[in-house]
Amino acid sequence: MIDQDAKLEELQRLRTRTLSDIARLRDELHAEIEPASATDDDSADVAADIYERSKIISLIQSMEAKLHAVDHAISVAAKGRYGICEVCGVEIPAERLEIMPETTLCVNCASKLEQGIRRHQILASTPQTVDFYEDFEEEADDADDDI
Ligand SMILES: [Zn+2]
Repeated sequence: MIDQDAKLEELQRLRTRTLSDIARLRDELHAEIEPASATDDDSADVAADIYERSKIISLIQSMEAKLHAVDHAISVAAKGRYGICEVCGVEIPAERLEIMPETTLCVNCASKLEQGIRRHQILASTPQTVDFYEDFEEEADDADDDI
């Protein structure tokens, strides 16, 4: 049986880490943009910069998706349902939770979902999304919003 409180704490720590990762990436993105706009008549450099930036942007997007998933897992753990697949109700193997602590689906249901077979809209926007973005704005206040 999973210790829901311990998992909740673990997820909170993961959330904090993910937020600081996003903040760091935003700083990197900012640093990437600054020198390019100052001296960029070399088109190869510009292309490299654009490539570098789009890489950082897609990293930020995947971290934001992860943050959303972590928030969802937190709400599941708060209800005492962490580690149980939200779709089929089987226990999610410990190894899977180890690798993806933010998951709330067993591997079968997750791959079905990825294939677009959505019988349950569990990953759709949930009310706490709004709170999450408000929190995030506060915590990321010192980072400039360039994207
Ligand atoms: Zn399942």
